[in-house]
Amino acid sequence: MALPQTYRKMMVTSLSTNFRKAIEIQRPSLPKLSGSAILVKNRYVGINASDVNFTAGKYNPGTHPPFEIGFEAIGEVVDAGDESKHLIGSSVAHMSGGTFSEYQKLQPSRVFKIPSAKPEYLPLLVSGITAKLALDMNAKLRAGEKVLITAAAGGTGQFAVQLAKLAGCHVIGTCSTAKKVEFLKSIGCDRVINTSEEDLKTTLKKEYSSGIDVVYETVGGKTFDTCVNALNLGGRLIVIGYISGYQESMPVGGTSARSLSALPIKLLMKSASVCGFFLLSYPQKWGEAFKSLSELYADGKLRSYVDQGINRDGGNLEGIDGIADAVDYMYSRKSIGKVFVDLCPDQSSKL
Ligand code: NAP
Repeated sequence: MALPQTYRKMMVTSLSTNFRKAIEIQRPSLPKLSGSAILVKNRYVGINASDVNFTAGKYNPGTHPPFEIGFEAIGEVVDAGDESKHLIGSSVAHMSGGTFSEYQKLQPSRVFKIPSAKPEYLPLLVSGITAKLALDMNAKLRAGEKVLITAAAGGTGQFAVQLAKLAGCHVIGTCSTAKKVEFLKSIGCDRVINTSEEDLKTTLKKEYSSGIDVVYETVGGKTFDTCVNALNLGGRLIVIGYISGYQESMPVGGTSARSLSALPIKLLMKSASVCGFFLLSYPQKWGEAFKSLSELYADGKLRSYVDQGINRDGGNLEGIDGIADAVDYMYSRKSIGKVFVDLCPDQSSKL
């Protein structure tokens, strides 16, 4: 494959939760390779709710732009230093920072080899690994337990639903559209709560008065409060995120932080627990989790849903300029499964 001299790469050039305002597309020269370094051509990149936390510098307080952005990609090794020539042509998945870029220079230890570069491997990265590790490490699911998953039809929610079903649990998922209700039923949700039509608190009180054993909580705010109040004796709530607050400009722990003074008594009386799970805390566990998810996927036990903009006006999300549109699409709450962008749809290589 003939390589270009320059390529397009997204950089965060000012701190903002407004993704478009924060980023710029730059055109650097292709990096030089030596030793074991490889050059990956990123084909598919995954969009994450936390991309707007990252552009705002919330995960790295004190960081100053410019810095790279993008958490995950599927691509192909297109060039390599002398020690890694054998990897040229391999399809790879990776979670190296800075994936919103047409090319990336990486070390082979940073990539997972995959059978072919198809978008369905993308959700098994950030979204799938988060669900797997959080449920394995923090939820310790037992068959028959009642598990509530908020934003269940999204990138990570789809895996929390399926993994909890594989563990033999009764799974309740929340979402906000009729299409998502159908999707969640198709992946095994026992009860779907469409929060545009039903009040979560009322439904949980009415149908699950004995309490919820485990909550995979991604929304925050009032939803978090409702979920804490719904916990059963010995219940576990895992804070996966708080998307309802991501577009606020407040720093993490800023003055809008909610009062926690009622939490001790609530947890104490139910011997319940609330814990956080943050994927970036456990890089040493990513490889094993990805392997396990890939095996479940290959065996047909786990499905992986991707969304290139199917429910949006404006067609498929394509090219590096399509990334900002993809972030808007995710925040429109219309996406189902993992939102992704095809960086080079006209590519004629084997990808
Ligand atoms: P996603 O679920 O694919 O998309 C976001 C979904 O959140 C929307 O479709 C929407 O679904 C729901 N939502 C609820 N309230 C919303 C609001 N006020 N604004 C926008 N969306 C809202 O996104 P994702 O990337 O997989 O992330 C989901 C959550 O998991 C986020 O909180 C994210 O930070 C978290 N996460 C955490 C980690 C970690 O390491 N802890 C890793 C990956 C993801 P409905 O309209 O159907 O509710």
